[in-house]
Order: sequence, then C-alpha cells, then structure tokens
Amino acid sequence: MLGKILKFSPVRAFVIVPFFILALPFGPFVPSIIKVTRAPVPLEIITNGSIALGEVASFSIKLPPKAYTKTGSFNGTPVFFFKSGSGYSALLPATLSSTLGTHLLELKIEAPGKESKSFFYPLEIKDKKYEVSRITVPKSMSHFSKKTLKRMKKERKSVKKALSKGTGKKLWKDAFIRPVPGKLTSGFGKRRFINGESRNPHSGADFRTPLGEPVLSPSSGVVALIGNHYLTGYTVIIDHGLELFSFYYHLSKLEVKTGEVVEEGTLLGLAGSTGRSTGPHLHWGIKIGGIKVNPLSLITATEEITFIRESEG
Ligand SMILES: [Zn+2]
Repeated sequence: MLGKILKFSPVRAFVIVPFFILALPFGPFVPSIIKVTRAPVPLEIITNGSIALGEVASFSIKLPPKAYTKTGSFNGTPVFFFKSGSGYSALLPATLSSTLGTHLLELKIEAPGKESKSFFYPLEIKDKKYEVSRITVPKSMSHFSKKTLKRMKKERKSVKKALSKGTGKKLWKDAFIRPVPGKLTSGFGKRRFINGESRNPHSGADFRTPLGEPVLSPSSGVVALIGNHYLTGYTVIIDHGLELFSFYYHLSKLEVKTGEVVEEGTLLGLAGSTGRSTGPHLHWGIKIGGIKVNPLSLITATEEITFIRESEG
C-alpha cells in the first residue's frame, strides 16, 4: 500500500472546473474536467475520479496541438492511450485484489522535438462488495481425472497463446453492447466455495438465455480462438485490440472461425449449456491488459468515451 499512496499532492496544481452534468440516453455521466497547468504541457483531464474494485473506468485527456500520449501505467499494469476525437482516451482496469485508495496513473507525454515526460495523476480505487456463493457437489464433479486435467492444461495453453498474439492496434469502435439481452443471473467477481474449498472468483457475467439464442459480438475485432473446451464448452474469444479481449462460453453452436473479422452485432454463435454448465446461459468475460473485469463496467466506460468524442460535434 505504502508505495502506491501519494507522497506528494499534485492535486494542488490542478484547477478544477465546476462539475457539469451530461444527460446521456443511457444514464447520468458526471465527469469533472480538470485543467492542469503544472504538467509537462498544459492539459485537461476528463474523469470520473475513481475506479471500483474489479471494474474498468474511462480516462480522457486533452493535450495542446502536436503533443500526444500513447502509453502509461496504472496499478502495476501498462495503459494504452488511443486517439478519440480531439483528445486521447484509455481504459483503466482494477483487479479484484487491488489495494484500495489512491494510485498514481502515469502518462508518458510526448511532443515533437521534446523529451518524453511522465505525468502522474491520482485516481482512487474504491471498494465494491461481491457476493459469496457456497455450493456442495459430489466429489466427482469438483475433482478431475488425470486425463481431464491433461486436457484442461492443453486448453489453457491454447487460450494463453491466443491472448499473447493480441493486435497492437485498437479494433473496437463505439460503445460495447450486450451480447445477449437476457437477465444477469450470476455477476462478475462472485467469490465461490465448492465443498468448502475456495475457488477463483467468477471470471465473467452470466446471462439467462434460451437454448439457441443468438450471441452477438459487442463491438468490432477479430476472432482470436474458437474451441470446444472441457469447462467452458464451445468457446469464442475476440481480440478487440490494445490488450482488450472478450470471452463467450457454453455455446451450443459456433458461427465464426479463428481469424475472422467481426463487427458490432456479428453472430458469434448460439447460446447453450456445453462444458461445465447447469443450464442454458451465456458466460461473458472481459480481460484488459490481462486483468479480468466486470463486463458491464466496460459498457459504461466505452459509452463515456464515445459520448465525450461525440459531444465535440
Ligand atoms: Zn459464468
């Protein structure tokens, strides 16, 4: 915690422009615009000011002409900035096990003919409570045979390989949409105990679906992997670029091939109950810079970035 906590207060150098409220068709977005005069270049920050545990937040910045930013870091992971309207934006994920409190976002600011300079901006990681589920299953369902363990290991390896080949360019365009319309039945991050043993928290969000419901791509990208895996059943992984991946599990049928370019709304497959599943549903997962986050927070974060861009006219 110590190293991450502010030892100085760059906040004093900021001039906070009064809050403004933007009424969005999808809910209120209340960012603040902060003018920073004592940075390597004068700049303006548009932010909600905090990120919830296990979620992703948007962060946008306006720089003088010719200055730009591409990379940075937050909470120990790299951050990729991309051009959005007249400024730059980034997605900032926080792991479920992040230390709460203030962390410094580092941005590397570049300007032609000048040395690249780091700028540090304080952002808070806020607590969020997650549900706990305790279930009891027959031992045969929670322990795997040697053969199954071998299969699972091979499948994990193929996923890891697909994730390591991510596109360095941003492929997603507008705000993410839900891949299916159904009700959320099991949220991201739920802490699970099976027969009293602690398991990994739920890595995605489960939505109720009828068997055969179309599962649509929530944004543009390229199919990084398809497969039929022991735990996740018929699986699709999409690379949206800049280390952002989305995951679709338990499908009954696949409708895309590896390497296929997809757009928002492209049919990826049909929902089902393959793999370790107790009934038809879609498990939707999101990973950003290797960090699993609540997929619903990605919808909000990308809506904010799209709104800021579009409100420039
Ligand atoms: Zn799930």
